[in-house]
Amino acid sequence: MDPINKLTEYFKEFPGIGERQARRFVYFLLHKNPNYVSNLGKEILNIRNDIHQCPSCFLFFQSKENKLCEVCSNPKTDKSKLLIIEKDADYENIKKSKIYGGLYFILGGLVPIVTKDTPKYVRTKELLQKVEGEIKDNSLEEIILALSLNPQGEHTDMYLRELLAPLQRKYNFKIVSLGRGLSTGTELEYSDNETIKNALNNRA
Ligand SMILES: [Zn+2]
Repeated sequence: MDPINKLTEYFKEFPGIGERQARRFVYFLLHKNPNYVSNLGKEILNIRNDIHQCPSCFLFFQSKENKLCEVCSNPKTDKSKLLIIEKDADYENIKKSKIYGGLYFILGGLVPIVTKDTPKYVRTKELLQKVEGEIKDNSLEEIILALSLNPQGEHTDMYLRELLAPLQRKYNFKIVSLGRGLSTGTELEYSDNETIKNALNNRA
């Protein structure tokens, strides 16, 4: 395969990027000055060394070693609440709204509507561990499901309620969804501060 096609294939794996956009990226790099391209290459190599994933909530954050992130390790974090989100970009957005001060859990994806193999798409085992751990160590009282308001997000919401039901019966905590303050089709990643504030205030 020639280098242009090869690099195009890599870019095509990026979220939301198709063949044409991938090819535009390749030609963009060919037109950029060589310093830009070599710095970009270096940053791509560095990112795996400088950024680690929190072993408790799976958030990516800057650290030299594998320790807990700034949310999990911060004594000011409200550990009675746990917000479940699909991805890191959602965390950035909720953090910016400054209204939520509790714990997070990054699910890592949404559950496809037709699948028999859910753990392949979302962190089910890790979520159950996290919830049980937070109940025992920090008296968790409320789980907030904050998934996108599209069919797959709603399916995942239902799936998680079923998954958590046995723990809920055992420990009696609240499960709410962020949906009420959001309109259909909303993706958390693209929501503005006001929308997120409304959604958090009107959770049910
Ligand atoms: Zn964490």
